[in-house]
Amino acid sequence: MNDLILVRYGELALKGKNRKDFENRLLQNMRNKLDGFSGVKVKKTFGRVFVEPGDNPVEPIIQGLTEVFGIVGISLARCVESDLESIKKAAVQLVRDQDPIPRTFKVVARRAQKNFPHRSSEINRIIGGEVLRNVEGIRVDVHQPDLELRIEVRGEETYLYGQDIPGVGGLPVGSSGRVMLLLSGGIDSPVAAYLALKRGATLEAIHFHSYPFTSERAKQKVVDLAQELTRYAGNVSLHVVPFTEIQTQIRSKCKDSYMITIMRRMMVRIAEETAKRQKALALVTGESLGQVASQTLESMHVINHVAQVPVLRPLIGMDKQDIMTISKEIGTYETSILPYEDCCTVFQPKSPVTRPRLDVCEEMEKGLDVEALVGEAVDGIETIRLTPKQQEEGEFSSYF
Ligand code: ATP
Ligand code: MG
Repeated sequence: MNDLILVRYGELALKGKNRKDFENRLLQNMRNKLDGFSGVKVKKTFGRVFVEPGDNPVEPIIQGLTEVFGIVGISLARCVESDLESIKKAAVQLVRDQDPIPRTFKVVARRAQKNFPHRSSEINRIIGGEVLRNVEGIRVDVHQPDLELRIEVRGEETYLYGQDIPGVGGLPVGSSGRVMLLLSGGIDSPVAAYLALKRGATLEAIHFHSYPFTSERAKQKVVDLAQELTRYAGNVSLHVVPFTEIQTQIRSKCKDSYMITIMRRMMVRIAEETAKRQKALALVTGESLGQVASQTLESMHVINHVAQVPVLRPLIGMDKQDIMTISKEIGTYETSILPYEDCCTVFQPKSPVTRPRLDVCEEMEKGLDVEALVGEAVDGIETIRLTPKQQEEGEFSSYF
């Protein structure tokens, strides 16, 4: 009797070539994720994706799969020969192995080949009877069972599985094109990244750093956040932009209340130029409507005005509390709340304008050599390439 990990993925709206691409991408992402486990095999047969764990413990593998977008459900399956006696034995064993042992159950059998001598309804009845006889106190409940014992007869082999662990859903990373994330050291932008990744985007990140106004440790915090995102994203390139000169000039030449707005417009220009070079199709930010002065619609309007590519704001309708909840779930919260200063906080004016005017911004920017400043900043970018860390066994306990 072998253990297998069965993976279900969202199939709705997937047809023809899209479906093939989706599956290939998903398989590749699963393989990358499980790279650190020797002897693990990821396979697809009978329209099913499954993982053979080899000699590895299954828990860390399953935990790893819960971080792969595109997977909607994961179950640990037993694989036995397709004969009734083997199936009976495995079914009873599987029910006994549940912790806690379920009080109620039902059997849901499917037979892929009609040459198996029993129909699905017969298998349900026979295996159900066997479980009732061998597991003390258990009852059948067809409506809301504690355990749905599923049996799939497929040729020579039959799979039995019980508990279904929910996957993260979404689309496999790499199926929706590349985005450039504006990554600060805060709570929001890593969550925005997570949501963009969930819809299949490939991630690159850009960070604006104002050394020595902001410290090396503040930069390291952002590198750490990007590293944490590799868990879901795979490889991530982080572009660190030297932003000191631009901020210094803005401070000396622009009105105090407009400093943040102009600074954001510069960030967007540089991010867009970098996106073009990296063939990214959109920018992503952690903005949420009305959260702070620079996130009013008027601010977004004047900031967006300098961008040609779409600026995606996955958190637009979310409350801070919801964002924090996700941040904790995905493991970026603890790093985000470290107290190192951000380039925006260092230059925070006393009263930032909440309804900036486009004509005022444009007038003020006449005092800056925008093109040269953008060019210099882009030329000065340091790119850090981050790859996922091999997972350590101790980390995996949440599901078991
Ligand atoms: P976050 O928690 O993501 O920092 P925030 O609520 O602190 O967000 P702001 O500081 O106003 O909000 O930043 C809004 C967005 O602008 C951020 O989510 C991020 O996408 C981008 N951003 C801000 N500062 C930087 C920076 N230094 N480098 C790159 N992007 C930045
Ligand atoms: Mg911030």
